[in-house]
Amino acid sequence: MNTPMIYRRLGRSGLKVSALSFGAWVTFGNQIGDPVAKELMHTAYDAGVNFFDNAEGYAAGKAELVMGDILKKSGWTRSSYVVSSKVFFGVSKRPNETGLSRKHVIEACHAARTRLQVDYLDLYFCHRPDPETPIEETCRAMHDLVSQGHVLYWGTSEWTAAQLTEAYSVCERLGLHGPSMEQPQYNLFNRANLEVNLAPHCSARGLGTTIWSPLASGLLTGKYNDGVPADSRLNTPGLEWLRDRLTGPDVGPQIAAVKALAVIARELGTTLPCLGIAWCLKNPHVSTVILGASRASQLRENLGALDVVPLLTPAVMARIDAISKPVAN
Ligand code: NDP
Repeated sequence: MNTPMIYRRLGRSGLKVSALSFGAWVTFGNQIGDPVAKELMHTAYDAGVNFFDNAEGYAAGKAELVMGDILKKSGWTRSSYVVSSKVFFGVSKRPNETGLSRKHVIEACHAARTRLQVDYLDLYFCHRPDPETPIEETCRAMHDLVSQGHVLYWGTSEWTAAQLTEAYSVCERLGLHGPSMEQPQYNLFNRANLEVNLAPHCSARGLGTTIWSPLASGLLTGKYNDGVPADSRLNTPGLEWLRDRLTGPDVGPQIAAVKALAVIARELGTTLPCLGIAWCLKNPHVSTVILGASRASQLRENLGALDVVPLLTPAVMARIDAISKPVAN
């Protein structure tokens, strides 16, 4: 990586997030040991990453415990990093310990702060919409957490454009702090939600976006072109559903697209992971792309995506579109 880290505003807010950030899903407290987690966090921070993404549901709270311990011992000033949690999936499945009720939104915030060993969460997401809780109840709970200083910015993840419209109108009507960011999946094979559904909210409301699975859980690295490597995510117990999805019969055209994209990557003198991540960064509605990695060599490679962004000329983008659009959602 030669290009210094770039910082983008989180939508219309004044918060600056590194264009590349780092997340804990699957890996922390699960697929990798704690020393590797520490090496990854320090590699990221040393490269200018200032946003670390987490959730109550990652390894049933263990991912936050591991990250909290690393943050505590890091010596980094609290103002130098942004840390998130997400509420919905819960650590246990007992009644009131999942979802977006006022009770769970508030209790989960305090539990996450305790696990992460921080006084406040910079970003706090509703990890999914909750059909069993009125949006107004969730908005009021989020507003209260922001007003009390426990959360700085609240947002959503995988909410529809219509659900966001309702949240905005509730917040405007009641004078509440509204959502600042949404966390959608966005990559060469999952495009329409951000490009079609969310883009109007980004333009009109200044909604920021923190992108998840920029490499489609590794599919876009080419590592699944010829089966599943033993040491990969798809062999992690509990992720059989993801393995079925990424190795099923429907994935053939996407594997063919990955092979075609590899030709472009080679011509540009880069790698498939860097190409896929740089492509996400080209979208002006993207505030930050959250990287995932199970070893430091992957993370170091992926941070090099910043060098690739200027190589994605309109002509190259058109070739990438021609390959990815026909096989993308
Ligand atoms: P990616 O799609 O980038 O997948 C990351 C995985 O791909 C790595 O763990 C690794 O898997 C493989 N990989 C990455 N780089 C390379 C490389 N250079 N060479 C070979 N393999 C590579 O991102 P994630 O799915 O991890 O998502 C990123 C973050 O987004 C998460 O940590 C989380 O914070 C957030 N997220 C949020 C969700 C939400 O609902 N809001 C859902 C999912 C993620 P392997 O171990 O197999 O090598």
